[in-house]
Amino acid sequence: MRTDQDQPVRLADYQPPSWLVETVDLDVALHPTETRVRAKLRLKPNPAAPAAPLALDGDGLTLRSIKLNGAPLAAENYAATPDRLSIAQPPRRPFVLELETVVDPTANTALSGLYRAGDTYCTQCEAEGFRRITYFPDRPDVMAVYTTRIEAEKSEAPVLLANGNLTEAGDVAGTTRHYAVWRDPFPKPSYLFALVGGVLGHVADEFVTMSGRKVALRIYVEPGRESRADFAMDALKRAMRWDEEAFGREYDLNIFMIVAVSAFNMGAMENKGLNIFNDKYVLASPETATDEDYANIDGIIAHEYFHNWTGNRITCRDWFQLCLKEGLTVFRDQEYTADQRSRPVERISDVRALRAHQFVEDAGPLAHPVRPEVYREINNFYTPTVYEKGAEIVRMLKVLLGADGFRKGMDLYFARHDGQAATVEQFIACFAKATDRDLAQFMRWYRQAGTPEVAVTLSHDAKAATCTLEIAQMLPATPGQPVKEPQVIPLALGLVAPDGRDLPLRRADGRAVERGVLVLTRPAETFVFTNVPQRPVASLNRGFSAPIRLTANLNADDLRFLAAHDSDAFNRWQALQTLAVTLLIDNVKALRAGQPMRQDAGFLSALGAIVADTALEPAFVARALTLPTEADVARELGRDVDPDAIFAARNALRTAVGDALGPALRDIYRRLSVSAPYSPDAESAGRRNLKNVALDLLAASSGSAAIAIAARQYASADNMTDRMAAIATLSLHPVRERQAAIDDFYRRYQVDPLVIDKWFALQAAIPEAATLDRVKELTRHPAFSLGNPNRVRSLVGAFAMMNQTQFNRADGAGYAFLTDTVLALDGRNPQVASRMMTAFKSWRALEPGRRGKAEAELRRVAAAPSLSTDVRDIVERSLADT
Ligand SMILES: [Zn+2]
Repeated sequence: MRTDQDQPVRLADYQPPSWLVETVDLDVALHPTETRVRAKLRLKPNPAAPAAPLALDGDGLTLRSIKLNGAPLAAENYAATPDRLSIAQPPRRPFVLELETVVDPTANTALSGLYRAGDTYCTQCEAEGFRRITYFPDRPDVMAVYTTRIEAEKSEAPVLLANGNLTEAGDVAGTTRHYAVWRDPFPKPSYLFALVGGVLGHVADEFVTMSGRKVALRIYVEPGRESRADFAMDALKRAMRWDEEAFGREYDLNIFMIVAVSAFNMGAMENKGLNIFNDKYVLASPETATDEDYANIDGIIAHEYFHNWTGNRITCRDWFQLCLKEGLTVFRDQEYTADQRSRPVERISDVRALRAHQFVEDAGPLAHPVRPEVYREINNFYTPTVYEKGAEIVRMLKVLLGADGFRKGMDLYFARHDGQAATVEQFIACFAKATDRDLAQFMRWYRQAGTPEVAVTLSHDAKAATCTLEIAQMLPATPGQPVKEPQVIPLALGLVAPDGRDLPLRRADGRAVERGVLVLTRPAETFVFTNVPQRPVASLNRGFSAPIRLTANLNADDLRFLAAHDSDAFNRWQALQTLAVTLLIDNVKALRAGQPMRQDAGFLSALGAIVADTALEPAFVARALTLPTEADVARELGRDVDPDAIFAARNALRTAVGDALGPALRDIYRRLSVSAPYSPDAESAGRRNLKNVALDLLAASSGSAAIAIAARQYASADNMTDRMAAIATLSLHPVRERQAAIDDFYRRYQVDPLVIDKWFALQAAIPEAATLDRVKELTRHPAFSLGNPNRVRSLVGAFAMMNQTQFNRADGAGYAFLTDTVLALDGRNPQVASRMMTAFKSWRALEPGRRGKAEAELRRVAAAPSLSTDVRDIVERSLADT
């Protein structure tokens, strides 16, 4: 345990580093249990900081030797503990420090620092893993030039990789070992250091940059899996081209490498020139990966590549600025995906994810600002708020400033801060300067947690031909922030005339509505529009221009009108969602009061009209037909949540949709069941998605033959998307075809770990009482291991995060299972354990019975001896009185 981390770290306490590191020469001799690391650091006092002793970070290190300017340092001149190396009176001029440490990669089950994924040696240094390799000022504002020599047994690690360009390689004379030397000319923070050694296959390609430089591309995978990396390579080349075209950013080294490993705490890591990926986000073949997997690979390959400029060339001054690289890079990968695929469909997917994860976080005890001001464990701040809400802030900048102003600000940011460790203030200052705007109030988005609530009231004066919007904004209290100030909210809107056309937006006060966006800045504002002879319907927050919760005096007729006529595709989808959520909430309340549920023929006919509109792209229709999730309904309820009632109401609506749209759904299924060779492109994926959504709704309808169709599709599918969709549909129904498919699936794919992850997740998500026992039994399955994060996420994570009724069992047994697992996992891998613990993030919104059971489990974890800082932080914040 790192006891020093138990003290909170505060943004307000930031001090520049007293010592800078100019160069780092590493010499790493790989060994399964005793890897020797020699580090030669060229240090110099920071002229911008007061003189101070030298204190280097460590984490569980053993120091073997230490030299200063070539001479061994006497014991009385330094102090070394596993977590710190200090020299009280270092020279006040540049000097060279040589350190030798020994680390055990095999014993490293936390998967931070140098560890083994299977037999492959690899590293993960973000956020604070480098200090588990050698003593170092392990903070992002210390940027140095690294040269890395790696040495290993040729048989054990024929492939040796590190950041930068390869400068030398060869055999170690007289031994069975060999070495490679890599030099990265770009100064970088230690968290971007990486090395890899192992038996790996690869695919190779080449990219010619916009200035004509040739860059070698390599993707390394487990031998035999090379053909499954072709799609990732294609995605990489498209991402490199897109960043040149959309942002003018060119790649800078001679080689770009990606290594796929089987044990990884996160999705992927943007180490300079040597990205390391969870193999889930590299490997794909039609037989083993779904359309969703392909889309994830596309987006994540792009995301990590884009970090080369937003994160690596310009990095973060300190970890409080994490959103500076993550929010911006998520925005960039979302834009890439929108350009590669379908912009409205991508926006719908992004907003669904934002609401499902970030809005929920923002409404619970773990809420925090996009730029937090205090942390105890930085690993717990790789959150939807930092990433997804961080991206929404960048998107709002673009909405406010327009595409040209936004690009000018980005260009200035790259020009001003290349090679630096920057802050959010410096980022925003570039946009203020480039567009001559005052963005001081806009900065509140980074400081204030919580989701703004915006209420809009439209009134119409037929005689004056005016339309008035009264708009109020309110930001709810969040932990540590009882009182909030109004935000800058860019609200894109349209006034839709009865004939379905958008009216010109003419404000009575003569002010323009630039690009159709009202900019809200005050708690309450009134906007009057002229030349509006008939009452229009307001289409608000078009394209989800701001990450807010919106209420408006739109009635069901207005929403159906928007669903049919809005020129903004996002709001057509949103109108249907609002109708569905309203109906579901009414029915949850009715069920709990013992009253009959209501039907909504209007909603069903609006949905029918979307299905019948052949001008719409299939992926959009599929999104429209996908009802709000149980978690969506719980979030909108906000309190006194009863997951069983939500499940029952939602199931009834699924049946109603299946019944009402039966003929149309059967027609879709028939039309889209074409046997063409599989292609992962967005259009084909959209057609498969719509076909499978139709099948799932048909299976939910009363007295349908769809179960047999699903079983047939499962057996005859020639791609994983169709097979997985069929088995997922079967899994929702207690029919004998279900177990047959589950057994068959394991037999077919048992040699393929990524597919077996799907098998675990599928069973964990079945919404029925027997599931918990099944999940417990699966933890004893030979293919299950607490040592593999993907496996833990696929079984335990899927149960706790995806299965609303069974995780939230009224008897509390689901909670007890999760806490038992977290306690078993914590000593081994604290990062994954604390991530699992966040399944309790909405516990306060539950109805009293479940809330009491959840609290008891949280208190049981809090009382456990020797918790990691990671889990303790999550548990204590979850329990804190706000
Ligand atoms: Zn990232």
